[in-house]
Amino acid sequence: MSEMNLISNEQENLNPYEIVQTQIDHAGELLGVSKDVLDILKKPKRVLYVSFPVKMDDGSTRVFEGYRSQHNDAIGPTKGGIRFHPEVTMDEVKALSMWMSFKCCVVNVPYGGGKGGVICDPHEFSEGEIERISRGFMEAIADIVGPERDIPAPDVYTTPQIMGWMMDTFSRMKGQFSPGVITGKPLILGGSKGRNEATARGCVFAIEEAMKTLNKPMEGATVAIQGFGNAGRILADLLAAQGCKIVAVSDSTCAIYQPEGLNLRQVEHLKDEETASIQDDPDSHVLDRPEDLLGLEVDILVPAALENVITLKNANNIKANIVAEAANGPTTPQADEILFKKGILVLPDILANAGGVIVSYFEWVQNLMNYYWSEEEVNGKLREQMVRSYHEVHTLAKQHQTDLRTAAYMISIQRITAAMEARGWV
Ligand code: GLU
Repeated sequence: MSEMNLISNEQENLNPYEIVQTQIDHAGELLGVSKDVLDILKKPKRVLYVSFPVKMDDGSTRVFEGYRSQHNDAIGPTKGGIRFHPEVTMDEVKALSMWMSFKCCVVNVPYGGGKGGVICDPHEFSEGEIERISRGFMEAIADIVGPERDIPAPDVYTTPQIMGWMMDTFSRMKGQFSPGVITGKPLILGGSKGRNEATARGCVFAIEEAMKTLNKPMEGATVAIQGFGNAGRILADLLAAQGCKIVAVSDSTCAIYQPEGLNLRQVEHLKDEETASIQDDPDSHVLDRPEDLLGLEVDILVPAALENVITLKNANNIKANIVAEAANGPTTPQADEILFKKGILVLPDILANAGGVIVSYFEWVQNLMNYYWSEEEVNGKLREQMVRSYHEVHTLAKQHQTDLRTAAYMISIQRITAAMEARGWV
C-alpha cells in the first residue's frame, strides 16, 4: 500500500461495513431506539463464504471465491444483487446486504436485505467461462437461497443472461421451474418488462421530485455522471429525454466533458466498440483526472459506479445542487456532513437507486402469480412508489432538520423495528 493510501485511510474510515454501522447509529440515536435493536441491525444474520472450482477454456481448473450475506429477514425473504468484481470483500458484501434491508424498507418493499459477490474480473473471461462461474456460484449458495428465502438479482458487472443461467442451475437442482429464485432475468424466462431500466428510471423519478423541491426545471439542467454501466448509461438517456444536458460522463478509464452537452449516441457507440473507448470522442475533451468530474459546476451529479467516491478529500469541491446516488455507498459519512453544511441535496442510495429492487419485487410477484404486466403498468407503479417514498423521506428530514439519508434510515429502522417487535425478537 502506498504512503498516500495509508494517510487517507488514517484520516477517514472507508470500510463500508463500518460506515453502514455509523449510519445506523446516527439514525438510531435520533429515533431513540434501544441498543438491543441497534445490536441486531448492525450485524448480518448470516454470511456464507464459498469457494468453487471452474473449468477454464484452456483446460485448467481455477478456484473462485465468493460470499452471500443475508442481513435481516424480519419483514420478508432477503433480497439483493450479486456482483462480479475483483475487489469484492466480505465486509463489502455485508455492508451491501445491510443497505438492501434499509432500501427495501424505505420504499415499502416486503423484503429484508441480502447481497452476494464473486471475486473476479469478468472482463478477463470468455462467455463460456462466465456461464460456468455463474452456475458454480449458484450451486455453491443454493442451500440458502430460494423464492421464499433469499432472492438474488443483478449488480455490478452481472447481467440478465447471468441471472438466466443461475435460475436454470437452481431449477435443475430442485427439479422444478423456479423463476422466483432470482430477478432481473431475460423476459422469456419470467423477467419483468422495465426491469433493465428500473434503477435508472427510479432515480430519474427521485431527481424530478428533488428538482421540484428546489424549484428548478429539468429542461436545460446540467448533469455529470460518474460510471457509464447499466445504471449510468440508461440514466443519461432518460435524463436527456427529460431535457437535461449531460455534460460529462466517466468510466473506469477516464472522464469526458463537453459543456454544451455530449453527443450521447456517439459516446454510447464508442463504449460498445471493442477497439475504442469514450476518450476517443472527438466532440468532448478528456479531463486531467477522472475524479475532476465530481467537482464540475453542474445542477445534478450522479455517482453511478462504486463505493467511497465522495469522501473527505473531495466533498468540499462538489458544486452540484443535487447529488443523486445511483451507486450504493458512494458518499462517506464525513463527506455527507460536508455536503449537508454546503446545502447540497443528497438523494441517498437507499432511496435514489431503489427502482431496481422495486421492479425486482414486481418481477417476483409476477413469477409467483404466473401473470405478466405491461411495461406501462410496471413503470406507473414504480413512479408511484418512488414519488411517495421521496416525499415521506423529505417530509421527515424537514421535521428533524436533517439530511435525506438520515431520514430514510429513520423510516426504515422504524419499520424493521416494528416487525422485529411483532415477531418477539426484541
Ligand atoms: N443490485 C440492485 C441494488 O443494489 C438490485 C437488487 C435487486 O433487484 O434485488 O439495489
